[in-house]
Amino acid sequence: MVKNRIPTAGTQDLLSNGVKTIDARFEVRKSKPGTGLGLFAISDIQKGEFILEYTGRKIPTAVADTMNKARYLFEIDGNWTIDGSIRSNTARYINHSCDPNTEAEIDDGHIMITAVRAIKKGEELTIDYDTEYFDEFIRPVGCKCESCVSA
Ligand SMILES: [Zn+2]
Repeated sequence: MVKNRIPTAGTQDLLSNGVKTIDARFEVRKSKPGTGLGLFAISDIQKGEFILEYTGRKIPTAVADTMNKARYLFEIDGNWTIDGSIRSNTARYINHSCDPNTEAEIDDGHIMITAVRAIKKGEELTIDYDTEYFDEFIRPVGCKCESCVSA
């Protein structure tokens, strides 16, 4: 966990209340062994449905590139990156899958996560992390996603 390694000026939480609220459609609970917590659907979700926004502190991408072993960085573009390590960012609980059921889209500087297929109640929400993350954190321990484990 990276802490206090970036200037704090101008990097206050974007969330106004600091309260962790989980959408009524999801819950955070223990996932498969080796993957920690995960985000699970507690109701059916339609293909194309908006799930949630990946939130956090907006930091310059140039600064983010110098942060070693920082797990929750999500690049918006060459200028800005979201550091989603704050607890209120529920989207950070979405685990990686090589055959994911959600995807992220950048919309006007916001990272919006939507369902790429219908998701059944009880299913874990997954997303395909970028190659850089995969090579740094997942490849060394082996991918534990559904499609890799059953392969
Ligand atoms: Zn995999």
